[in-house]
Amino acid sequence: MRLSTAIALGKATATLSRRLHRGGGTTMPGRVARAVEPRVLPLLSRRLRYGSVIVAGTNGKTTTARLLAHIMEALGRVPVHNRAGANLAAGIASALVEHADLFGRPSGDVGIFEVDEATVPRVVPHLAPRVMIFTNLFRDQLDRYGEIDHIAGLWRATGETLRPDGVVVANGDDPLVYDAVRGLPGRLVTFGIEDERHALPAVEHTAEARYCYRCGTPFAYTWTYFGHMGRYRCPTCGTGRPPIDLAARDVALAGPDGATFTLAPSGGGQTARITTVLPGLYNVYNVLAASAAALEMGAPIDRVARALASFAPAFGRAERVIVGGAELRMLLSKNPAGFNEVLRTVLSGGPLPVVLIAINDNIADGRDVSWLWDVEFEMLAGRVAHVVVTGLRAEDIALRLRYAGMADGAIEVQRDYEPALRAALARAAGRPLFVLPTYTAMLALREVLQRWGAVGRFWEH
Ligand SMILES: [Zn+2]
Repeated sequence: MRLSTAIALGKATATLSRRLHRGGGTTMPGRVARAVEPRVLPLLSRRLRYGSVIVAGTNGKTTTARLLAHIMEALGRVPVHNRAGANLAAGIASALVEHADLFGRPSGDVGIFEVDEATVPRVVPHLAPRVMIFTNLFRDQLDRYGEIDHIAGLWRATGETLRPDGVVVANGDDPLVYDAVRGLPGRLVTFGIEDERHALPAVEHTAEARYCYRCGTPFAYTWTYFGHMGRYRCPTCGTGRPPIDLAARDVALAGPDGATFTLAPSGGGQTARITTVLPGLYNVYNVLAASAAALEMGAPIDRVARALASFAPAFGRAERVIVGGAELRMLLSKNPAGFNEVLRTVLSGGPLPVVLIAINDNIADGRDVSWLWDVEFEMLAGRVAHVVVTGLRAEDIALRLRYAGMADGAIEVQRDYEPALRAALARAAGRPLFVLPTYTAMLALREVLQRWGAVGRFWEH
């Protein structure tokens, strides 16, 4: 009875906030429902026939969750998932409430929830996930410095509440992730890239975890793919990268147009050639994570490959938008490691006439923009003719670009989003326009594109 009331009020809240255009009501329905029935998460999630999967980590949560949902749909399952960014308990409760009838019967059969890194211990006991995916751990913004160790500790502490038959899917190339989850109960499935042709010689300066978690000696890297991901080993005690259960081999990057690689389970199991429109090595990791989880959820590897080939990215994650005949691609860039990978990917297609960078410092972006100094904007100089900068911190990014070797005349500051988009599109000269925004800048730019009729409303996705 109380659950029915909670669901009814949650649904009413969702309808109301949608009518008021309050961003689609991604968290209020859950908050209202939980106020009425605090056990709404366990009560609704336990009725999902195939159980739940959670996705945690600094980068790639949304893309990984969407990839997995797409694979599950291809298998005929009906995923219930939270909206991008609504990754606290209230956002997950909102998704469950909206996908249940008044008797608490779910309209889907598998839960796929992206979960904020620090929220993991608060939702895991309620959701009892069948699979937990841990993508990576990066410093998100400088004002969250020091949180990485804290978050690793939270993940470690989650262990007591895990179901013993659960599966932990973890990035074996990330020593911080591996250290945080290696002691968890349940079965551990690691994923990683095994293709040294894409390796970088030295650890980039955005690297976070360079010290052995057993003895404190700096890890020696045979190679890194980006940030602190790679093949690492402690020269003192021998602790290192674990054996990889699901590897990406023979990786071929097609610049900003996507990637192909061979998905190879350890032990000589059946392999599959994967094709994805998602660009860059960072997305190879996302595809690996989703594939590993899908295999654990019973998907045959050839079905996984077929589903991945038809995946279309979400807005802000390399989605293509056509604006007045020009092609625009928005790539969310919210922290140094992610930004460096996006820059590398965008530039791998050759020199560009223009790039648009939009930096905000709202709470969702991080209030401190000094992380911009950790991004290797130096790689733009000589390879991009013109950079249009916009957002609340347009001047900060303009200054950073000047220090990165861009000529004054090549940097155009446009305070407002609409003129910035127009200026950048005018210079695109038949090439795709790459737009690199922080989170709230992405939403603002999307509003402009929506006014222009180029895209639908955000919460319709
Ligand atoms: Zn050691």
